[in-house]
Amino acid sequence: MVKSIEYDVVVVGAGPAGSMTARYAALSGVRTLLIEKRQEIGSPVRCGEGLARHFVEDTKLPFDRKWVAQEVKGAKIFSPNGTELTIEEAHAGNEVGIVLERDAFDKAVAKEAARAGADILLKTTATAVLKEDGWIRGVRCKQLEDEFVVKAKCVVAADGYESQVGRWAGFRTLLKAGDVTGTLQYRLTNIGRGHDFPDYCEFWLGTCAPAGYIWVFPKDDVTANVGIGVSLDRLKHRHDIKGFLDRWLAQDPRMARAQPLDMVTGGVSTCAPISKTVGNGVALVGDAARMIDPITGGGIGNGMTAGMMLGQTLGRCLEKDDFSEAALQEYEKGWRAKLENGLYRNWLAKNKLVTLSDQEFDDIVKTLADVGVTKLSVRAILKVLKDTNPELVAKFAEFI
Ligand SMILES: Cc1cc2nc3c(=O)[nH]c(=O)nc-3n(C[C@H](O)[C@H](O)[C@H](O)COP(=O)(O)OP(=O)(O)OC[C@H]3O[C@@H](n4cnc5c(N)ncnc54)[C@H](O)[C@@H]3O)c2cc1C
Repeated sequence: MVKSIEYDVVVVGAGPAGSMTARYAALSGVRTLLIEKRQEIGSPVRCGEGLARHFVEDTKLPFDRKWVAQEVKGAKIFSPNGTELTIEEAHAGNEVGIVLERDAFDKAVAKEAARAGADILLKTTATAVLKEDGWIRGVRCKQLEDEFVVKAKCVVAADGYESQVGRWAGFRTLLKAGDVTGTLQYRLTNIGRGHDFPDYCEFWLGTCAPAGYIWVFPKDDVTANVGIGVSLDRLKHRHDIKGFLDRWLAQDPRMARAQPLDMVTGGVSTCAPISKTVGNGVALVGDAARMIDPITGGGIGNGMTAGMMLGQTLGRCLEKDDFSEAALQEYEKGWRAKLENGLYRNWLAKNKLVTLSDQEFDDIVKTLADVGVTKLSVRAILKVLKDTNPELVAKFAEFI
């Protein structure tokens, strides 16, 4: 007979979204189990590691220098001809402020979950969900060679971009090629000076990264995460992405003597918000719920924010002993009120941005730099362009 254990809630995936959910659920008295298939939380790192400071404050994560690699002054946006736009940190978007030590950061969030009372199991993979009469009742797990069942009143799918738990539970999370960005990132060291490196996170636009961008997120005085995202529908072969990044590196003088410390690949979703993230005895959060910003590809902050909300809702579900879809609506409505408009607007904007030529990017960035735009949001940028360069914004008329 397969061994069985019981919790109020089982959270699958100890990324920032899952650990934050577990933390706030446990703080509300929910008996919570957090399972993670990897042997070490946060490692290996597959991330640019950029995070706006306010997410840390919003989710009340105790600040610790251990998970800070570099604090930056803001963002620099470069158009294809090298025109530069500088945005100060407070207005530079969800990925700019702190460049994390993501492995230490993910452990710090999990530590808070444990401190709140959650149990954690590593090297434990969810392999199926338990279904009964339209409800999800738990997950089947494998730890090393042991197979067992975790029965729970609610299963949380926090299993990231490649999420299966949501799909097993019947959610529609499949992505089309145009809504997936393939990424490749080197951590490079021995980077030379220029463009105020290492004080800013850099974003390079145009055909250097078709329907995406190249980022340089500094880790220390000579080291940075240098990565590229390219929409999958622009790639003949997935490995072409390396050629794009290598060509860009070859023409940046700062990178002439740079050497890699690691290299990672992965995907990010750049889709519109999905229509449903809760069901009877189940909820989706973070990348598993497709909460990544479709323009920037950033998802740490949104995952943490939604995780906090979900944990709090699970506490109220326990009080009523009701983990039905109707009771979980509080979370669905809550995260949508906070994030959905922005995600949807950025998805629409992304679909327009991917049609811009290098010349149009040059014109837009120059206009914004000349006017001295100070805020990096789709709405703020379009407002400026509308007054100064109306023909450039014709493609975006419906956003204004
Ligand atoms: C190259 C790259 C660069 C990026 N750069 C940035 C950036 O600079 N800033 C930013 O905000 N975002 C960035 N992102 C996106 C960011 O990494 C994600 O949005 C973020 O990690 C989402 O957190 P999460 O908790 O939802 O999922 P994850 O962090 O992916 O965590 C999911 C966890 O679930 C575990 N898991 C999966 N399946 C199972 C299973 N069956 N059983 C048990 N455990 C399971 C995984 O091992 C993983 O630990 C980047 C992504 C990539 C690929």
